[in-house]
Amino acid sequence: MRPEPEFSIVIPLFQEADLVARVVEVIAAQMDDTGRSWELICVDDGSTDATPDLLQGIGASDPRVVPVLLSRNFGKESAMAAGLDVARGRAVVLMDGDLQHPPALLPALIARWDEGFEVVNAVKERRGRESVLYGLAARLFNAMMGRAVGRSFERESDYKLLDRQVVQAVLACPERNRFFRGLVAWVGFRVARVPFEVQARPLGQSRWSLLALARYSTKNLLAFSSFPLIAIAWLGLLVSGAGVLLGVQTLYNWARGAAVTGFTTTILSVLGMGGVILVCLGVVAAYLAVVYDELKARPVYVVRAPREPWTPPESADRRR
Ligand code: UDP
Ligand code: MG
Repeated sequence: MRPEPEFSIVIPLFQEADLVARVVEVIAAQMDDTGRSWELICVDDGSTDATPDLLQGIGASDPRVVPVLLSRNFGKESAMAAGLDVARGRAVVLMDGDLQHPPALLPALIARWDEGFEVVNAVKERRGRESVLYGLAARLFNAMMGRAVGRSFERESDYKLLDRQVVQAVLACPERNRFFRGLVAWVGFRVARVPFEVQARPLGQSRWSLLALARYSTKNLLAFSSFPLIAIAWLGLLVSGAGVLLGVQTLYNWARGAAVTGFTTTILSVLGMGGVILVCLGVVAAYLAVVYDELKARPVYVVRAPREPWTPPESADRRR
């Protein structure tokens, strides 16, 4: 059994071979400076480059570095869940493994935890360069998510420190469609905020395209909010109301002998309504897909190494 350190740092890594040695070094140096005990859980999210080999090498020479290798690319959320399952610290820090979340902030996060806050969020000082449309979409997404979760978590990143109690609460959420930032906001506790500036990636580039972002927000919205379902019910009511008004007007015109002839209006309304109905059906189908995935109850991730039998933490059992 590994000793229980005071802090666990969890970083998800995907194709980060160029960076991983430096990342581990910087974080280790920063944690050593604090003089507290720590472990660094490096979750390789199925990288096909040298990342897993490098991690195992580093782990062999420094037992405080714990490589966890997933069997394929499961996505950052799953990699973080794997890291949380393995982490044993009294507090757990999650951060990106590309130095965009500055390790220099670690002492500040720890200081707030020492003060008694169970959740310490690193909050993005300002959003990066983005288009107006993107900004609007982001704001709409944040507003809907904030409502669903019960508190706004705008500008919060995945860089955060969680007390053991919070980790257990998050792990006890059994859903497979996981949105870590939302889950942490949802479980509550006393929350502190520490501002930081997102650093430029030293090497490589982010894998986010606009399409990927849209898919990501939809997925997270579906995971947390039933608002779209309510919205289509209201839309239905609205359209029915308009239909009644239009019907009355049409009958009135017909009675006066002034009814509009021709197919244009008919075809337009049929196509318009058909579109609305299909979109609403699509919303219902999207939720059905989420229910389907949750019902299958597959594990969130599969571990390839370490192969020695480790007793799965309680939370992993509960999720099965
Ligand atoms: N990551 C991961 N699995 C993936 C994609 C990314 O574990 O499928 C890791 C990646 O190695 C990095 C972190 O998640 O440590 C953030 O990824 P990235 O830098 O691509 O995203 P961004 O910083 O643009 O949000
Ligand atoms: Mg990044």
